Amino acid sequence: MASSIPERSTAEWQALDAAHYIHPFTDHAALSKKGTRVITRAEGVYLYESDGRRILDGMSGLWCVNLGYGRRELADAAYRQMQELPYYNSFFQVAHPPAIELARLLSEVTPPQFKHVFFTGSGSEANDTVVRTVRHYWSVLGQPQRTVIISRHNAYHGSTMAGASLGGMKPMHQQGGLPIPGIVHIRQPYWFGEGGDLSPEEFGLVAARALEEKILELGPDTVAAFIGEPIQGAGGVIIPPPTYWPEIQRIVDKYGILLVADEVICGFGRTGRWFGSEYFGIRPDLMPIAKGLSSGYLPIGGVMVGDRVAAVMTDQAGEFHHGFTYSGHPVACAVACTAINILRDERIVARVADDLAPYLQQRWQELASHPLVGEARIVGLIGALELVKDKASRQSFPDPGEVGLLCRDLCIANGLVMRAVRDTMIIAPPLVITHAQIDELVEKARLALDQTLEQLH
Ligand code: PLP
Repeated sequence: MASSIPERSTAEWQALDAAHYIHPFTDHAALSKKGTRVITRAEGVYLYESDGRRILDGMSGLWCVNLGYGRRELADAAYRQMQELPYYNSFFQVAHPPAIELARLLSEVTPPQFKHVFFTGSGSEANDTVVRTVRHYWSVLGQPQRTVIISRHNAYHGSTMAGASLGGMKPMHQQGGLPIPGIVHIRQPYWFGEGGDLSPEEFGLVAARALEEKILELGPDTVAAFIGEPIQGAGGVIIPPPTYWPEIQRIVDKYGILLVADEVICGFGRTGRWFGSEYFGIRPDLMPIAKGLSSGYLPIGGVMVGDRVAAVMTDQAGEFHHGFTYSGHPVACAVACTAINILRDERIVARVADDLAPYLQQRWQELASHPLVGEARIVGLIGALELVKDKASRQSFPDPGEVGLLCRDLCIANGLVMRAVRDTMIIAPPLVITHAQIDELVEKARLALDQTLEQLH
């Protein structure tokens, strides 16, 4: 049978796109002036546009294609599973081998407190599941008043009602009356932007102690959980000072509050450890996962449920009235099993830690001396450049976002995808990038910085 996706010219795709397609996170007035870029295929770390142009994908799609594009084993796993059992669910006392096997594999690669998983279709659904699980947990334990979940400003936890509420993105809250009740936000550990005269170490403690202040303000017996991304991704790759997470761990332990580490971006090798929680030495009770779980080849997410919560959920909680049609979708699970096996068999996480991260770190730091760059920071294969008006005082540009957008467009014109968060340029390339491709990434980034500077004068 012929493909259902016909051959069309770029102009034809753009016209159809403008006529029919409402894009996520897109200003359509701006889009209609430019016309959409159309990506037709990809291989390794490279994307190809409809006109044949090749672009190095410095963002792994949306931080997900950790194994790079075109992995035949993942396509084969999907094809085989679609023929064997394309769909069945796990509601009502039934399951199937791909979901059970993926649950087993996850219990092997996650920290030791995790032996259970609840599957979802995405990271947002995983965070909705977190809200429901946390509240159900406390209710079963006879503390139904413990409903409040504390998150951070400028966090990103997805785009469903609960995900966007847990997130701390003001523009998202302004649309649709968010956050939903029982979710509050404290300051973020963003030293470059908010640390003032404090050292990063001092600021890390100040930012973490905002959690204790909020717990005391609300009353400790009303607080159910604290949620944070080990490294804030969409907020601008905010790498907390080394003092931050240990202090957060001390505070949640002191008040008996559940700790949720959103590993949707940091999980599956991004930091050079399997999970960001391991990089920072924290012990979460729940870990939302998605993205790198299937390397983005099919939509799947989940919540790793630690022993403390699993004991209650499996022994005392009765029926949990929660689940999705695509929870544990067999084809997505089969692909995720294969993605995890590739990460393990090819020792990709160790290669990130021992080889790729040190090399990228060294090359990335070279950009710190550029006149536009106030800070170049990186952990594993996730990094950021802060573009500033004045390096010494960390003074930002008057119209936040304008310079970042200019730099992003110049990157794309040079054949590199870097994302702009306001005036912070961010990267998270596939974990299979080579040294030569790291050189290409850094050189294209430098060229775009030079061109941005030129256009500012
Ligand atoms: N959590 C984090 C930390 C994320 O970065 C994202 C997406 O970028 C999500 C949750 C939401 O995942 P999804 O887009 O799969 O719903």
